[in-house]
Amino acid sequence: MPLEVDCKNAHIIIDSQAGFEAQALTRWQDRLKCLFREPRELLQYLQLPESLADPLPADFPLRVTREFASRMRKGDHRDPLLRQVLPIADERLEVSGYGIDPLGERQALAGQGLLHKYRSRILLVMTGACAIHCRYCFRRHFPYAEQKHLPQHWDSLLAHLASSPAVNEVILSGGDPLMLSNESIRQIIRDLRQTQVKTLRIHTRLPVVLPQRVDQGLLDALHSFDGRCVVVVHANHPREIDAETGNALRHLGTRATVLNQSVLLKEINDSAEVLSGLSETLFGYGVLPYYLFQLDAVAGAAHFQVTDEVARSLMQQLSALLPGYLVPRLAREIAGEPSKTLISF
Ligand SMILES: *Cc1c(COP(=O)(O)O)cnc(C)c1O
Ligand code: SF4
Repeated sequence: MPLEVDCKNAHIIIDSQAGFEAQALTRWQDRLKCLFREPRELLQYLQLPESLADPLPADFPLRVTREFASRMRKGDHRDPLLRQVLPIADERLEVSGYGIDPLGERQALAGQGLLHKYRSRILLVMTGACAIHCRYCFRRHFPYAEQKHLPQHWDSLLAHLASSPAVNEVILSGGDPLMLSNESIRQIIRDLRQTQVKTLRIHTRLPVVLPQRVDQGLLDALHSFDGRCVVVVHANHPREIDAETGNALRHLGTRATVLNQSVLLKEINDSAEVLSGLSETLFGYGVLPYYLFQLDAVAGAAHFQVTDEVARSLMQQLSALLPGYLVPRLAREIAGEPSKTLISF
């Protein structure tokens, strides 16, 4: 009899025949079967009226883990975690200057999945899948396929590395590269060990939205890399970090330098109190802030935009509240620039 997953109670019901060993099976993968995919279902769970959701089906549909949803406040339609994932009618507003591909990456990403924009580092799109769909995501319009194994273009990526001696860092991105199996990650690391790459960086939201992803197999895989590992997680609000997530981040920290990047989002984290709380909460688990991004002008996300003026003022307040190492760098990405562009304040 197959394992049955009890989504509501966040634990696996084990068939007695399968016994205890089965309990240790890829639990994070089972939890992925429990994602909320229907706005109606999520709103019911949060004791909110179904009418809050956009009635039209979105081309980038709702997707959120139960773990992340469990940190939302029941009965609060303005909850900052809910606002990050619930499709609303505002997304269909056409706002001039907001396009489907603000960074001109669509072609590169749909093709071989490699972005070599900055001299020393290349970014690889390993998979289009994510465990959560963030409404402000600049990749929301990309037509890439979900992938659970090494991408077909992996060999050509290795060939590109061989012919690009200035590259010393490889960034695994997506989608979420930790949607790949531990076996695939071990394979990637085995291959990278044969190259000049000194730093392996992973950009992922999974440790935050599904802390079970940080399992022993992943920690062992990272340990097998002989260079440095950097994991850049993505959290925007301190309530995203509960004890279980904190624990996962701490474990990651035993194998990698763990940093956080956030996106500045209107009515979600556009306050010095929230942003300083985020830095302090993460630091409690050994995570340091990296970037605070100004939103890319992606169609459907204009209602999240915070002005540069407000962003600068927030940074001044943050700098007064926090030690320098807990203040993220305010930045944006400008197509064609040789690095991220810092915004001074
Ligand atoms: C953001 C980004 C990087 C990483 O830039 P850092 O400033 O080192 O974090 C690398 N490649 C691409 C294409 C990027 O968009
Ligand atoms: S997890 Fe990252 S890549 Fe995936 S939807 Fe959210 S912001 Fe976009």
